[in-house]
Amino acid sequence: MGLVREPLVSVQAPDRTVQAKSPEAQTSVQSPAQARTPPRERVAAVNPQAPPPLAALPAPYAPPDRPGACPSAAEVAACTSLADLQKATEGCLACPLGPGRLKFVFGEGAPKARLMFVGEGPGRDEDLQGRPFVGKAGELLDKMIGALGLRREDTYIANVVKCRPPDNRTPTSEEAKACLGFLHRQIELVQPAVLVTLGATPLRELVGVSEGVTKVRGQWRRVTVGGREIPVMPTFHPAYVLRQYTQDVRRAVWADLQAAKAWIDRPE
Ligand code: SF4
Repeated sequence: MGLVREPLVSVQAPDRTVQAKSPEAQTSVQSPAQARTPPRERVAAVNPQAPPPLAALPAPYAPPDRPGACPSAAEVAACTSLADLQKATEGCLACPLGPGRLKFVFGEGAPKARLMFVGEGPGRDEDLQGRPFVGKAGELLDKMIGALGLRREDTYIANVVKCRPPDNRTPTSEEAKACLGFLHRQIELVQPAVLVTLGATPLRELVGVSEGVTKVRGQWRRVTVGGREIPVMPTFHPAYVLRQYTQDVRRAVWADLQAAKAWIDRPE
C-alpha cells in the first residue's frame, strides 16, 4: 500500500483546526484500481477464541422482568426509521451492560450516509453524553473525517454495543451478540456504501474476522446485512491511534480512510 507523506495533524493542536488533505496525500494513497476492488469472498464468521476456564465464568445474567425492555427481533425488524429503532431499543436490558449504563448510546449521523463508522462501544464520555465518539478519540475521528473533506454529520457513527462496558473493557462476544441485531437494523436503515470498522471488536463481531487489525487493516472485506453485501474497510480505532501516535500508524489510518472515501466517490 502506498504511504501518504502528510500525516494528520496532532490531536493536541490547540486551535482544533482540521488539516485538509494535501495534494501529496491525495495522490499517494492506493491506486484507484486497488481502492475500488474489494474482494468478493465472504469472510467466515468464525471466532476461534478459546472460552475462559470455568472458574472465570461470570454468573449467568438474568434479564429483569420488564416487558418491553428487551425488544424482540420482530420488533426491531418492524422499525422503519432510525428514530423508531432508537425508541424501541433505548430501554434495552438484554445483556449485563444495560443496568450499568448512564446513557444508551444509539448512534448518530446522516440517516442515509454513504460512509458509516462502526466502533466497539461507549466509553466514559459517550456514556455521560449519550453520543458515540465524543471524547479524545472522537475528536480525532472528527479531524480525520474533516481531512477527507466531509463533516461528521455527513457520516453515520455507531458501535457494536450501545451501553458502556465497565472500566472500558472489551465487550464479551455474548454482549456483542445480544446487541448485534440493533446494529444490523441500523445498517439496513442507513444503507451505507462503505463500512469502516474501527478496531478489533467490530471487525470480529460484525464482519467475522478474528485476525488482528494490524494484520488486516487496509484490506477490503465484505459483510452481508439484510441481504445486501457491503464493502468493509478495517482500520485502527482512534483510541489506538492516540496511544500509538506514530507516523506509521497515522499514515496507515489515513490511507485506509482515503480508500474508503475513494470507494464512495467512484462513479456509479
Ligand atoms: S449493550 Fe445492547 S444488548 Fe446490552 S443492554 Fe445495552 S442495548 Fe441491550
